Amino acid sequence: MNSKPANYVVFGAPVIGEAEIDAVVSVLRSRWIGTGPVVRAFEEQFRAYVDSSQAVALSSCSHGLFLALKALGIGEGDEVITTDMTFCATVNSIIHTGAAPVIVDCSRETLNLCLEGLERAIGPATKAIIPVHFRGYPCLMNRVMEIADHHGIKVIEDCAHAIEARIDGKHCGTFGQAGCFSFYATKNVTSGEGGMIITDDPEFAEEIRVLRNHGLSRDSWNRYSGDGALHYDVVRPGFKANMTDLQAAIGLEQLKRVDAKWSRRAEMWGEYRSALADLPLELPSDSDEGIRHGYHLFTLLLDIEKLTITRDQFITLLDSRGIGSGVHYRSIHEQSYFKNELGLSPDSFPNSSFISERTVSLPFSPALPEGEIERILTGVAEILSEHIR
Ligand SMILES: *Cc1c(COP(=O)(O)O)cnc(C)c1O
Repeated sequence: MNSKPANYVVFGAPVIGEAEIDAVVSVLRSRWIGTGPVVRAFEEQFRAYVDSSQAVALSSCSHGLFLALKALGIGEGDEVITTDMTFCATVNSIIHTGAAPVIVDCSRETLNLCLEGLERAIGPATKAIIPVHFRGYPCLMNRVMEIADHHGIKVIEDCAHAIEARIDGKHCGTFGQAGCFSFYATKNVTSGEGGMIITDDPEFAEEIRVLRNHGLSRDSWNRYSGDGALHYDVVRPGFKANMTDLQAAIGLEQLKRVDAKWSRRAEMWGEYRSALADLPLELPSDSDEGIRHGYHLFTLLLDIEKLTITRDQFITLLDSRGIGSGVHYRSIHEQSYFKNELGLSPDSFPNSSFISERTVSLPFSPALPEGEIERILTGVAEILSEHIR
């Protein structure tokens, strides 16, 4: 990264202002930098933002997915269904519980978990479904919940891309048993690293609080700050997945501007769509009635049949113009470990295979100045026009 020229457009650049910097410095100057009052405040603000009754902050969304499955008692002998078009963390979280992941193709239209495929994949061992609101576009959660409830299966929503996403005003993450959010460096709200679980089930939230902190009955802020019991008690073999006040300080400031940044990306969405409309590519799907798109990723599908270059060559050409981009995703069934260990064949995944070969995500940070947006859009148009078959 350091070898890139100064004007290189970094994919997924965060919007960090003086407020974030001051908030971190203030925690550093305080006498507590661990999990404490700032984490509590971040949990409270986040809970209020997504309109959920409980929120538990964590070190990552990956740990959130894992702990949510653990808290449901999912393990060896169980199956958990998720989509082929996701980040590996979704599937790893299932594997680490001892359960078997069952991978389903995505829909060609929404790029989210294919619902017919989901119904076919449900069997006697199925304990949970992890739908992913891929790139911020909500899964059809009413239908997912109908299917899940009919079979008595729990739903954990992977909301890593979907902090702002809603269906008829209801936030993604509030449909199933729990929703897991990510504050990784490139996500819409970042805390450097971090995650959040939301749920309306207080006992489930309490279990996550215990599991995130070694299985201790009380956290150390309570013990050291003088309002807690003298001794902790280990009630489970827990994990280490807490968020710190340093991270929460960044997250709190970021959350204040979440909707302002969303509005900026919504504007950019329109600008990108009209600038790229007549090129050999498929534009990302727009919002439907009642859907609030999270606008996390602006993913194009290159029409490679009409081009003399592959997607990877396109990315290299963009890079040589000083423009970074991303691939979301080369799907799960194409990754060696999952392919070999789960015996996944491309024949079962025609849609995700199609997308994996053609998808490219353009820089889409609300921090981008107009001049850089112009450079990105012109770059894409020129590269594609120069390579039409
Ligand atoms: C980023 C991401 C995760 C993991 O989030 P972390 O906070 O980095 O652990 C999980 N699922 C999806 C779809 C993601 O994009």
